[in-house]
Amino acid sequence: MVSIQTNLKRVHERIQRACAACDRDVSTVRLLAVSKTKPWELVRQAIEAGQRDFGENYLQDALLKIAASGEYRPIWHYIGAIQSNKTRDIAERFDWIHTVASEKIARRLNDQRPPDLPRLNALIQVNINDEAGKAGVTESALPTLIERMLPCQRIRLCGLMAIPEQTTDTARQRENFARLADLGRAMATRFGLVEFSELSMGMSDDLEAAIAEGATWVRIGTAIFGVRQ
Ligand SMILES: *Cc1c(COP(=O)(O)O)cnc(C)c1O
Repeated sequence: MVSIQTNLKRVHERIQRACAACDRDVSTVRLLAVSKTKPWELVRQAIEAGQRDFGENYLQDALLKIAASGEYRPIWHYIGAIQSNKTRDIAERFDWIHTVASEKIARRLNDQRPPDLPRLNALIQVNINDEAGKAGVTESALPTLIERMLPCQRIRLCGLMAIPEQTTDTARQRENFARLADLGRAMATRFGLVEFSELSMGMSDDLEAAIAEGATWVRIGTAIFGVRQ
C-alpha cells in the first residue's frame, strides 16, 4: 500500500512541474487536501507529512475530525453544499469556505461568525458551464451576490471557486478554468476589491490545467487519500 506521505510528495511534484511549465512561482499555488469520507487517522498522517489545509464536504463527518485534530491545529476548509441549518457550525469551526452561492447563506455565515475569530475566508462558487443541477451561482448572478456580500464585515471575500464540467479534453479544461480566472479579474476591477485574488480550481485529474490558468488553491482528494467508496 502506498503511503499518504508518498502520495503527498507525488502531488507536490505534479504541482511543481505544472508551475515550471507556466513559469509560476510554486508558492503561489496552495494544496488543499480533500479528506471527505476518510478517517481522522489518514488526516493525521497527512499532517505529520507536513500538510496543513484540509477540505471537507460533509459536516457531521468533518466535525468529528475537527474535534479529533485538537493540538495539531490544521486549517479547515468547507467545500460542500451548504444548507441553512449548517451555517452556524461552519461559521464557528472552519477557517475557509469555498462554496458560498447565495446571499442568504452569506448573511447567516456573517452573522454567526464568532467575534473572537478572524474573518471567515470565503470564495463564491460559480457554475461555470451552467450545468443543470450543479451548485454555484451563474455568471450573470455573480455581480449581484458580490454586491450583497460587500457589507458582510465578518467575511473576507477573497475569490472564486468552480467545479467545471467533467472532460478529459485538456484544451477544454483550460478554457473553463480561464473563464473563471477572467471572471475573478473582472469582478475585482468592477468592485475595486484588492483581496479578491483566490481561485480554487483543479482536482486530482485536472490540476495541471488549473495551475496553467491561475489556480491559487488546488483541491486534491483521490491522489492523496486514494479512491473513495
Ligand atoms: C471531492 C472533491 C474534490 C476532490 O476530488 P478528487 O477528484 O478526489 O481530487 C475537490 N473539490 C470538491 C468540491 C470535492 O467535492
